[in-house]
Amino acid sequence: MSAEPLVIAQNLCASYGEGDLRVPVLEDASFTVPRGAITAITGPSGSGKTTLLSLVGALDHPTSGRLIVDGEELTAMSRAALANFRRRRVGFVFQAFNLLPTLTVTENVEAGLEPLGLRRSEARRTAEAALDAVGMLELKGRFPHELSGGEQQRVAVARACAKEPPLLLADEPTGNLDEEAGERVLDLIVGSNWAANGDRSVMIVTHDPSVADRAHSVLTLHAHRIDPA
Ligand code: ADP
Ligand code: MG
Repeated sequence: MSAEPLVIAQNLCASYGEGDLRVPVLEDASFTVPRGAITAITGPSGSGKTTLLSLVGALDHPTSGRLIVDGEELTAMSRAALANFRRRRVGFVFQAFNLLPTLTVTENVEAGLEPLGLRRSEARRTAEAALDAVGMLELKGRFPHELSGGEQQRVAVARACAKEPPLLLADEPTGNLDEEAGERVLDLIVGSNWAANGDRSVMIVTHDPSVADRAHSVLTLHAHRIDPA
């Protein structure tokens, strides 16, 4: 584990709207995430969990504060640089899977590899290796609507991780799954050393107490603030 944390967040604030209509959604969030660590994020609905992930994942700039991810100061980047950073260095897994419906399983994972600019044959090989790791290689030719929710989410995990990003962000990844399918997805994300391998850090929003047990640290949000540990 390298000494420099993967994520350094200092006094992050986020709000929506302007002037009198301004609604704060995240206030003064400061934390670090070491390389290779799993961080669980919990808190009631509307407390700012998704907002926090979207800042760390370079989807959005904070209103104020400082954010450094993988050695890059996101808060100093242009929109274009932010998008480029996100495509290369962040993998996302969403509650609703978000696979592209017109692409096969393999093509969905290949789409996640696009930012790397691999040759076609290498992209195929890399995608299939990721599908094998999540137990989905046999169904590689199917379309998303031909898969169960759990299967779709395992493909989404493969898509997020195939490019080997240093940071994997998962936002309630088991929220739409039954217990058994959810457990299998969690095993991939926080349990099996596949997603959380080597230097890769994982930040996962979840209400599942078993994830908090397996995480290296837990950030609890309440009314837009991180609870003191
Ligand atoms: P959580 O993921 O913990 O449920 P969110 O980060 O999604 O919370 O949202 C925090 C607050 O920000 C909520 O009150 C939500 O209504 C508000 N919010 C989120 N996105 C927007 C937006 N684009 N415009 C205005 N308010 C928003
Ligand atoms: Mg949310």
